[in-house]
Amino acid sequence: MKEVKNPKKPWIYYYMIVLIVILCLNLIFEPFISGHSAKEVSYNTFMNMMAARDVGQVSLEVNQIIFTDKDGQNIYKTGKIDDPDLVKNLYNSGAEFSSEIVKETSPIMNLLLGWVVPILIFFALGQVMSKKMASKMGGMNTMQFGMGKSNAKIYVKSTAGITFNDVAGEDEAKEILSEIVDYLHNPDKYTEIGASMPTGALLVGPPGTGKTLLAKAVAGEANVPFFSISGSEFVEMFVGMGAAKVRDLFKQANEKAPCIVFIDEIDAIGKKRNGQIGGNDEREQTLNQLLTEMDGFDGSKGVVILAATNQPDALDPALLRPGRFDRRVPVELPDLQGRIDILKVHAKKIRVADDVDYAAVAKAAAGASGAELANIVNEAALRAVRDGRKFATQADMEESVEVVIAGYQKKNRVLSNKEKLIVAYHEVGHALVAAKQTESAPVHKITIIPRTSGALGYTMQVEEGEHFLMTKEELENKIATYTGGRVAEELIFNQVTTGASNDIEQATKLAKAMITRFGMSDDFGMVAMETVSNQYLGGDTSMSCSLETQTKIDEKVRELVQAQHDKAYNILKENMDKLHELAKFLYEKETITGEEFMQILEA
Ligand code: ADP
Ligand code: MG
Ligand code: ZN
Repeated sequence: MKEVKNPKKPWIYYYMIVLIVILCLNLIFEPFISGHSAKEVSYNTFMNMMAARDVGQVSLEVNQIIFTDKDGQNIYKTGKIDDPDLVKNLYNSGAEFSSEIVKETSPIMNLLLGWVVPILIFFALGQVMSKKMASKMGGMNTMQFGMGKSNAKIYVKSTAGITFNDVAGEDEAKEILSEIVDYLHNPDKYTEIGASMPTGALLVGPPGTGKTLLAKAVAGEANVPFFSISGSEFVEMFVGMGAAKVRDLFKQANEKAPCIVFIDEIDAIGKKRNGQIGGNDEREQTLNQLLTEMDGFDGSKGVVILAATNQPDALDPALLRPGRFDRRVPVELPDLQGRIDILKVHAKKIRVADDVDYAAVAKAAAGASGAELANIVNEAALRAVRDGRKFATQADMEESVEVVIAGYQKKNRVLSNKEKLIVAYHEVGHALVAAKQTESAPVHKITIIPRTSGALGYTMQVEEGEHFLMTKEELENKIATYTGGRVAEELIFNQVTTGASNDIEQATKLAKAMITRFGMSDDFGMVAMETVSNQYLGGDTSMSCSLETQTKIDEKVRELVQAQHDKAYNILKENMDKLHELAKFLYEKETITGEEFMQILEA
């Protein structure tokens, strides 16, 4: 895509500066112009030429003598020496007295050199300067010479642009957006029936799922101008400029219609107004202006507004009502097929071995976003280069999944043998509890090589198919699996370590969600006692029940986790020999695959 610059430039400033400087310069240059091409010679030369009757014209000035030779070809000058007979001698030598020897002093030349040339120089200088300023100072430029101009980037379609083919998965989102593209191409088809296009579409989803990418693809597909601006750009630099910038943006858009306006990270200006006096006035004014402008659109004009956010809950309801952003386009984390497609799209940019099994990589990378998958492919390429290979292999891909999930291998962290043994038992504890509950390979891989993320070892689980629902029993099994690591430590070493902190956190979160959100507790039934506020950004929750209930919930959570802990304890106690055998294997090899695990378990 190509960026097109705003053409408007306030030239009046430059003209004024140029005029003033020219006046000054003219004064400085004046003496040089007269006689500037005269050749300096010694007084002796002058005397000799005079004696040889070789002086043509001569002009006696206050402190110099300017003269030409007989045929007037060359102009000379020399200093003046006190010589009373000078005039007489000159007259005798046949020289002709003149006051206008120097050719350049002709009035036209004078005007040219004194005025026109400096004007041209400064004109050129001004051009260069203004270009530099515009590119260097970006926002500054806006503020100095055009208060409140939106600094939206305008894109026009170019062949190198991003298209829908660059966005893998996300078929629903693409479908909705292609309709908008289609409308911009053939508005008649829609207006004939009387249908009007939605004014705005809001892309919502977790970070890295391709919202910005989708918007760029729309720009690449639609043959219309595309204004792109980030929400935060409205409120930078100067207080009170946001609203003016919105106005300017929409004015430009109206002039260029049909076109697309894309506001990235719209939550920066679209947050709920809280109605308190002395709230964030600046942002509210900007938002109000945006609401007004969106209402002022004539739907048939063909201005479509796209916006992206990962905090849809935080947006002001007025923005979301029909007539403004009435289409909501969910851009969710990719499913298995989506992950495979995304991996393939990005693998096209690097050299890969023919036998890479994308499905296996995609399965291992469950829950990864598009951005993470792009990163995985790139890590694989980097790893191939590091190992001196010409293309990335399956192993590179799998290792980079781990790098993205758990960080790089920490080569220099040396665990003591005792610690290594504890980690081995801990990890096998998780895996064994999981295996005994579901009777299937619970793990893809277990390693006890420390990672830069701080994990001393970890168990990589790969779901066979895709799950969208989970039963109460599955959730309980999951909690039991989380406790398995600690249980193994208790059983074998009769002591506990800090290594289980993350497991404890996860188990508690899950148990709490079962009770407060999923209605899986007999004591509380189907009552929501917790609400998720930021579903796309970490999913923070807030309690919405009385303090007494909270106390009861805490008690129930403790009971639930304890029950699963006891279950895991029994499972491991019954399978002590396998626990020892697997832990020994892991301790020696540092890595165990799912197949090896099942072999030992079933032996
Ligand atoms: P966000 O949703 O946070 O705006 P981006 O659109 O900026 O995410 O995505 C970041 C990068 O991740 C993209 O530049 C692209 O390389 C990659 N990516 C994300 N989703 C996809 C996808 N569906 N297909 C291909 N690449 C994707
Ligand atoms: Mg983005
Ligand atoms: Zn653990």
